[in-house]
Amino acid sequence: MLMPDNCPSVLLIYTGGTIGMIENPDTGALETFNFDQLLKHVPELKRFNYRISSYQFNPPIDSSDMEPSYWAKIVKIIHYNYDYFDGFVILHGTDTMAYTASALSFMLENLSKPVILTGAQLPIGTLRTDGKENLITSIEIAAAKHPDGTPIVPEVCIFFENELMRGNRTTKINAENFNAFRSFNYPALAKAGIHIRYNEHLIRQPDPTRPMKPHYLLDSNVVVLTLFPGIQESIVHSVLHVPGLKAVVLKTFGSGNAPQKPWLIQQLKEATGRGIVIINITQCQSGAVEMKRYETGLQLLQAGVVSGYDSTPECAVTKLMFLLGHGLSQDEIRHRMNSCLAGEITKEDEL
Ligand code: ASP
Repeated sequence: MLMPDNCPSVLLIYTGGTIGMIENPDTGALETFNFDQLLKHVPELKRFNYRISSYQFNPPIDSSDMEPSYWAKIVKIIHYNYDYFDGFVILHGTDTMAYTASALSFMLENLSKPVILTGAQLPIGTLRTDGKENLITSIEIAAAKHPDGTPIVPEVCIFFENELMRGNRTTKINAENFNAFRSFNYPALAKAGIHIRYNEHLIRQPDPTRPMKPHYLLDSNVVVLTLFPGIQESIVHSVLHVPGLKAVVLKTFGSGNAPQKPWLIQQLKEATGRGIVIINITQCQSGAVEMKRYETGLQLLQAGVVSGYDSTPECAVTKLMFLLGHGLSQDEIRHRMNSCLAGEITKEDEL
């Protein structure tokens, strides 16, 4: 079909995951289909008067195999095609989608176009799939513009089951239901019902005087350490002495509290003294760390642990990888972990 020159244009990047699968009628097993056949499975796409092109990972991957090198590949694809499309839709397995969305929010600095990640709990080739709805609405959002021609959502987002969420605020919360993602600490950027209602005051805007700046380098010498009652000194010692370790995401209790055992505070203090960055985030799904609220949190602060505020674990891990990838000093990383780079944290003074 011939499209007018000014018709909306969207690049679909298919990385893999359930959405792009179809049930083999003979074996019943889920298999990936060639994305060139997308129109066969989603004929509704023809009804958009959009120019839709696609790029397919070859082979498509289950998102459990997602890696920083694939994030760099996605950034490269977006950067390469940046001037040719109004927006980008990334089809991705749900399992690690929140990590990819968080990583991309830092790697695509000063993004001025929509990058919408979506997927499905049921393959697009099955009758009750949620994939079609997610895909079609994501395309519409990726192409949506204000009357002056600027995109409505120039952010990395996840669209799932009628909600558009800031990507670096999301977490996968359900392995079964269609509403698999939640953004506990930041409201939805849009809700899709009969109309797509955007909460425009919540959407970040780029600096129009600067171009989008792609970043490719990540350093994954990071570990997540979850505290629990009875945690052993020898185990904490081993984790903090892993060769090459540069940063720790410490998942503490409630509003950022840890056991007051002297050995724990000592170990953390020694680790920060050796240059390891330790970020305090809560194990609770919702809410923020307030390290000055209880004595137990204050002790962590005195040991050199930095507040991760209301960051999700996915965001804390990928932000650390991103900052470490820039070869910054411990002080610079601590400072930037304390600053909001892409709408990922709400600082206490903003509450
Ligand atoms: N294991 C799949 C993946 O994350 C699940 C999904 O797509 O929802 O790739």
